[in-house]
Parts: sequence; C-alpha cells; structure tokens
Amino acid sequence: MIIMDLEWNRGYDPEPLNEILQIGAVRVERLGGPIIDVFNAWIRPTVHKKFDLGAKKLPELQAFKSSRTRFPAAAEAFRVWCGGDRAFAGWGAGDVEVLNENCRYWNLPLFEAEEFSDFQRAFSHAVGTEQQIALRRAAEYCGVPDVFDYHSAVNDAMYTAILGAWLTPEDLAWRPQPAPSKRRRTALRLSKFSFPRQPRWKVGPARTPMEALDARASRTPACPLCSQRLGIARWHFTVPKMGMPQQFYGVFTCSEHGRFLCRMTLTRRGDGQWLGRGVVPPITPELVREYAAALDGGVHVCRRSGRRRRRGRAEKR
Ligand SMILES: [Zn+2]
Repeated sequence: MIIMDLEWNRGYDPEPLNEILQIGAVRVERLGGPIIDVFNAWIRPTVHKKFDLGAKKLPELQAFKSSRTRFPAAAEAFRVWCGGDRAFAGWGAGDVEVLNENCRYWNLPLFEAEEFSDFQRAFSHAVGTEQQIALRRAAEYCGVPDVFDYHSAVNDAMYTAILGAWLTPEDLAWRPQPAPSKRRRTALRLSKFSFPRQPRWKVGPARTPMEALDARASRTPACPLCSQRLGIARWHFTVPKMGMPQQFYGVFTCSEHGRFLCRMTLTRRGDGQWLGRGVVPPITPELVREYAAALDGGVHVCRRSGRRRRRGRAEKR
C-alpha cells in the first residue's frame, strides 16, 4: 500500500490549477505495518506567479523554490517508485485527483488507483465521530510523538502511515450514514431520582487521552444512591473546531436506581501527561443538553487493557 500526500499552490491567476509543490509517499506492506520505503520530491513551481496564503505558510517553501525538479520529472519518478502498486491511501480523499489534474495539465499519463483508502474517514470511524479530524490532532490523540514538521508531504504521509496502526479493515470500509434517532431517545432516558452531591475523583496521570478514558478508575463510578460500583463502556464527546475534546460523558446503569451520567474532564499537564477528573453531576436539563450534543459527536469505546490495537467491538454505534 502506498500512502501519499501532496502540497500544492492554487495561486491567484486565472489558470485553475492546484499546482503541486511536493509529492511525498511511504510504502507499507500492511495496514499499520512498518514503513519500508519513502518517496519525496520537491517541485519547482512554474505555473502560478504567486503563492496563495496556504502555500506561503508551508514549512518547506524554500525547498520548492530552490528545487531543480519540475512536475513532469517528479511525476515520472513517482510512477517508477510506485511500480505495480495500485493501492493508495491518504489523509483525506482528494490527492489522487489533484495528482491527475496536474498530469492532465502536463499531458502525462494518469495515475490509476485501483483502490484508495481514506485514513481520515477511517480514523473518524475508529474514534466514533462523523467529523473530520486534522492529521496533527489525530496524531496527538494517539500519542504519536511530534517530531517532524506537519504540512511537509513526506512527513504527513509518514504520520498517516503510523496512524494506520489504530485502524482496522472495518474502519477503512466504513462510510458515514445518518444516525438513527430512536437510539438517541433511549440514551437520554436518565434516572428520575435526586441524589446528594457526589465527590470528584482523580484519574491518571496517563500517557494519552485514550489511556485515561480506558483506565479502570475512570470507568467504575458508583451509583450516587446505593454506592454500588458500576461500569462505563463508552465515552461520548463533542469535538471542538480547534483543540482536543475535554469533557467526556459516560452513562452507567444501576439495576435499582436507573441510568446516571459520569462526566470526565481531561487536562494536559506541562509534562504532556493527561489527568482526568470524574464526577457524577446532578441530572439537570443543562447536563442532558451537553450529553445530547456529545451523542452527536464522537464516541470512545473503552478497552480494558492499555493496548493500542482494537480487536472488534462489542457493538457499533
Ligand atoms: Zn443504585
């Protein structure tokens, strides 16, 4: 499988071309497997006179400007490097299309991808949201060390390949569908009992948010009425536009007193470790609204061990 990424410049002139500035790719033998080969080409821009705002911010802008490789030579080198491999993947779905847009511009043969795996969509499925997650956020979420600059095509291809270790073939096959609403109504049916104010408890420190959410201390709140220890199987959260989700909502059921919510707040310490603070808050209309919003956001299905790989899930969303 070839995992690729491109950087390009749309410029400002009328020529409607996303002019490719860099082709980066890595090769893996299997999903999440080690990187066995790397391709990188910095490409001298020759079509657009100016860089657009996005392109101007690329960390390797100087490398494109000083490159002696033009697109036709880079595309040919990439074609040779790909060999017979026709299984492509990337973070997002558009890269083969942009590659071919440039090939058409230069009258070159097109790249024919027999299959294209969108790791970004698959990752959304793996963490249980229908929203798109930026590559950097996904890597942060999985605790992948932030060693190389993002927005360099070859580095982004490498990060994408590494994130493949968190994906299953089921995640790759997933396509978004509208969520059923009946499930939602059941989910919102919480206990009618009122209960005394509950103590907060601490979780962690943990290496990643996932590890904090999977910790036994996070997943075993007590019934606020009979103090029986109960279990949380999944956490729902809203994904903010910028940054990581911080509030996670889990539901747990006491056979005698009904369903309650647990709210887990994660914060990152200065040393990069994550701390959790759990509480069983009183059930107020505001809490129900927060939970309803989280049901539309992401879901983290708990694993009992701290292992990264997920082997099948008890239940789909
Ligand atoms: Zn109870």
